Amino acid sequence: MRKKVHRDTLIIHEGHDPHDHQDSLAVPLYQTSTYVFPDAASGAARFAGEEAGNIYSRLTNPTVRVLEERIAALEKGAGALVFGSGMAAVSAVLVHATKAGDHVLCTRGIYGCTFGLLNILEEKYGITHGLIPMRTEEEIERHVTPETSVIYIETPVNPTMEVADIRAAVSVARRHGLKVIVDNTFCSPYIQNPLDFGADFVLHSATKYINGHGDVIAGLLVGADEEEIGRIRMTVQKDFGGIVSPFDAWLMIRGLKTLAVRMERHCSNAEAVLNYLKTVPAVREVHYPFDDNHPDAEVAKRQMTAGGGIFSFTLDGGLEEARIFLDELRLVKLAVSLGDAESLIQHPATMTHSAVPGDERKAMGITDSMIRFSAGLEHPDDIIADLDAAFAVLKKRTAAAGAE
Ligand SMILES: *Cc1c(COP(=O)(O)O)cnc(C)c1O
Repeated sequence: MRKKVHRDTLIIHEGHDPHDHQDSLAVPLYQTSTYVFPDAASGAARFAGEEAGNIYSRLTNPTVRVLEERIAALEKGAGALVFGSGMAAVSAVLVHATKAGDHVLCTRGIYGCTFGLLNILEEKYGITHGLIPMRTEEEIERHVTPETSVIYIETPVNPTMEVADIRAAVSVARRHGLKVIVDNTFCSPYIQNPLDFGADFVLHSATKYINGHGDVIAGLLVGADEEEIGRIRMTVQKDFGGIVSPFDAWLMIRGLKTLAVRMERHCSNAEAVLNYLKTVPAVREVHYPFDDNHPDAEVAKRQMTAGGGIFSFTLDGGLEEARIFLDELRLVKLAVSLGDAESLIQHPATMTHSAVPGDERKAMGITDSMIRFSAGLEHPDDIIADLDAAFAVLKKRTAAAGAE
């Protein structure tokens, strides 16, 4: 592009010049598995890495390439890779950054399947892990062992919305020569750019805010070092093979164009619903990184530009109260995933975090009445009216139960 433009412009234009593609305004869909070499010498030169050009779509694809360039620019990285799911990105970067016998230090409360992957790595390759809050350098430093090779961060943590201090983790990592990987799914690149704070890798479940329309499963990995991203492309990505289809990349390019306007609405809707929830007697606590009562609000405001579209809250009571409330919702959809146009709600203790042993779940702060909410793009008054109707039923039922 002619000169540096703002982020909101980048996500619409970066990586695509219409004049390289039959003047097509939209990024064309190259739905092809392989590419035809002009001659044998050229094919050999491409395999030898001496000539630029496509070989096979598990390595490169022109549609996927646009998304790679766009997300790399958006996360301020040197290069990016697109995967067939968020978990394919997580597994690729963890396999790349560890070897048998290593130790991975993680934020407490990481995504369930990432936890599952760490258990596979431990069982098969002796790669152990520790799960800690990561609020201060001292806290992190204390858990680094001679085998530690990676600090793996999710912030804010799902669903407690605990915040990890990325800068503190990077500073510990620099002292010990560790790689820092940040799962930035909950924030999207619009709200937080971990590479700015010195992280080595940032990854996304693109299924969530990046695509934003609930119709694709995909993952993204962005690196601070172009050569290292190139190495991952030609090793774990190529040989484990967790790539994305060109069509899904094309859908993501389309979804990503509206990221800036969507994120603004996700955040303002989250805040409107939070303000409503604070007036509801049945709501005990709300957990949102930019809420003044949040214990990590200060760190959150240092590394995030907005509070995001996701929060959790707890009800007076337990499992029964949570179920009554959830079953009365009509507009707000009972579903896992997040970052879609539709407001989504789920019950961590029996859904996303049901595999975590009960006592561990309690230690993490996930109670039986905790509910996670992903604010959609609907009119905020309609979301609030739906919640309000469900709370009215809950109130009637608990009053009736109390009178029995
Ligand atoms: C959804 C999610 C993942 C996994 O991504 P998939 O696209 O479902 O494979 C990883 N991390 C976080 C924080 C997520 O929310």
